[in-house]
Amino acid sequence: MEHKFVRAIFPGSFDPITNGHLDVIKRGMRLFDELIVAVGRSPIKNQLFTPQERVEMIAELIEGLPGVHVDSFEGLMVEYAARQKADVVLRGLRSLTDVQYEFQLAMTNRAVAGIETIFIMTSEQYGFTSSTLIREVASLGGDLSNLIPENVHRRLESRFSRLKAHQT
Ligand code: ADP
Repeated sequence: MEHKFVRAIFPGSFDPITNGHLDVIKRGMRLFDELIVAVGRSPIKNQLFTPQERVEMIAELIEGLPGVHVDSFEGLMVEYAARQKADVVLRGLRSLTDVQYEFQLAMTNRAVAGIETIFIMTSEQYGFTSSTLIREVASLGGDLSNLIPENVHRRLESRFSRLKAHQT
């Protein structure tokens, strides 16, 4: 059978990228010919890092991974996916709570744009890792070395030491 080229996009906030995201990327890249990690530039979400900073951290981490790219987008994810001629959307699942939200999102995206979503379940050790918790724990000075890559750790440290310097 002829092989069809499959391009996937992995959209998210990635504020910041965690080992959980990276695990989804590394397992997802084996399923597709091309995987675009797409940082959403949402104006609503409370953000710690700028989209540019998030893209930079991801770029450092995917260097050398074949077929994996990083980009950012504004506006509707499905419109971005169509512009990129993506065949599928990749998302990660951690828990039943994720399933409920992701199910709705996937149904909506299929209804409005006809695009399919493929899910990868988290590796057990990252089941509790979320960017929100990482931001909170980092702001309180907790040790996150098992949950985030080294380059993210360094950026968080310098971000929060600068914030502390401002407050005192
Ligand atoms: P969004 O704001 O779009 O949810 P996130 O950056 O929080 O963006 O998450 C992007 C995707 O990665 C989502 O599908 C989310 O469920 C998934 N994800 C986040 N953390 C993990 C993890 N630890 N393991 C597996 N998937 C994850």
